[in-house]
Amino acid sequence: MNTTYSQFINEEEIVRILEQNQKPVPSKVREVLSKAKELKGLNLVDVAVLTNISDPMQLFELFETANHIKEKIYGKRLVIFAPLYISNLCSNECSYCAFRAKNDLIVRRSLTQPEIVNKTETLIREGHKRVLLVAGESYPEQDFKYVIDSIASIYGAHVGNGEIRRVNVNVAPLETEEFKQLRDARIGTYQLFQETYHPQTYQEVHLGGKKKDYHYRLTALHRAMEAGIENVGTGVLFGLYNFRFELLALMQHIRELETVFAIGPHTISVPRIEPATGSDFSSHPPHAVSDLNYRKIIAILRLAVPYTGIIMSTRETTHMRRETFALGVSQISAGSITSPGGSRHKVQGEEGSECSLGDPRSLDEVVRDIAALGYIPSFCNSCHRLGRTGHDFMDIAKPGEIKQHCNPNAISTFMEYLMDYASYETRLIGEDLIEDVMDTMEGVARERAFLMLEKIKKGKRDMYC
Ligand code: SAM
Ligand code: SF4
Repeated sequence: MNTTYSQFINEEEIVRILEQNQKPVPSKVREVLSKAKELKGLNLVDVAVLTNISDPMQLFELFETANHIKEKIYGKRLVIFAPLYISNLCSNECSYCAFRAKNDLIVRRSLTQPEIVNKTETLIREGHKRVLLVAGESYPEQDFKYVIDSIASIYGAHVGNGEIRRVNVNVAPLETEEFKQLRDARIGTYQLFQETYHPQTYQEVHLGGKKKDYHYRLTALHRAMEAGIENVGTGVLFGLYNFRFELLALMQHIRELETVFAIGPHTISVPRIEPATGSDFSSHPPHAVSDLNYRKIIAILRLAVPYTGIIMSTRETTHMRRETFALGVSQISAGSITSPGGSRHKVQGEEGSECSLGDPRSLDEVVRDIAALGYIPSFCNSCHRLGRTGHDFMDIAKPGEIKQHCNPNAISTFMEYLMDYASYETRLIGEDLIEDVMDTMEGVARERAFLMLEKIKKGKRDMYC
């Protein structure tokens, strides 16, 4: 490990800033909110101020500001992906997770390559274009090559016009050489959540295996970036420790990545601990985050790192997912199965899933719901395929120009979905939405969307700009 990286989480700084900003005066809150509207992000003090808002009017203003920023940068689009759990074998002992090594209440499975192709084909038939590969930290037979082979299997699967165009990966921390293999396998984003940035809590909940090493995990995104993976995703597992501390530590992590690599994280995930089979701990998280504070967390992140994608998983309920679209969530999973080899129609937990699902709906149902709310479900992967990653992505994302690509791409990929995969009801709602959105679009974005729509209606596929 490169030890020079190990000092960037500064507990003393976090505790001091939180103490000094426990009761922010209204003028300070207003100042932070108007600074956020400039889309340049926030510092640790600003974030501490916002975490302590409780006045309903100020909360309303925070949520409004988050919505404003999200629409300004990303427009109305919501990127959709499907998690694909390839293996629940694991040598770690994370007290909140059903995959932990000593849990004998779940069935252990790792998918074979033909099974992965088969699962991917099912996702393609539903209309998915983007997959998040997830695995526990122990691989069958060929060890890490299993992950590399699995990525190739996913990219290699085809059904008619359909294929997976971007594979993101959520696996245990790797050495730089292994990260280079992931890069060469053409992954989109490498995601890794620190779970908790609080060192003592980290030790208390990670009881065995390699994951006990806080610093090895903390520096994983550095190694990924050194290996040439420009899109990295970070996250916190909310419920393990005080959310205010976690948010400030996350900001320190982001500050560090921006200082060393001049690029922040591509995405931030915000899982809350959900009940998991064989984990009493997960049913009683020590710092459970209320729904109100959860919405606050998402809104604050949208203000603090405006150019970063915020990911909401199917672990949250349909209701919570709907609420957070307006607060800054820009990517969501849909049609999830959280056990290798599982299906949505079986009871979660029985087959070896990681935790319970809050939103078990099919992709078609999720898409219909999103469209009825006025959001454009997007199956776009153009940045990944055009090499708009890392600095190139940030250069157009930071001034808010990414919308000129995101919105037309969202519309064209959504139309492709409606024509090839949607139910009749979803197609009606979706086509109405596209018409409404086109009416509000102007300039280059409208022109691009119009041209792509015309071609898709005539049978052309895979259009993007
Ligand atoms: N094994 C890898 C790791 O730990 O990073 C990747 C797979 S792990 C299943 C992916 C994520 O699931 C973890 O980082 C953790 O945040 C989340 N997770 C585990 N148990 C959970 C639970 N009970 N509720 C919500 N999220 C959970
Ligand atoms: Fe294994 Fe990851 Fe679950 Fe921990 S969170 S038990 S490392 S799968």
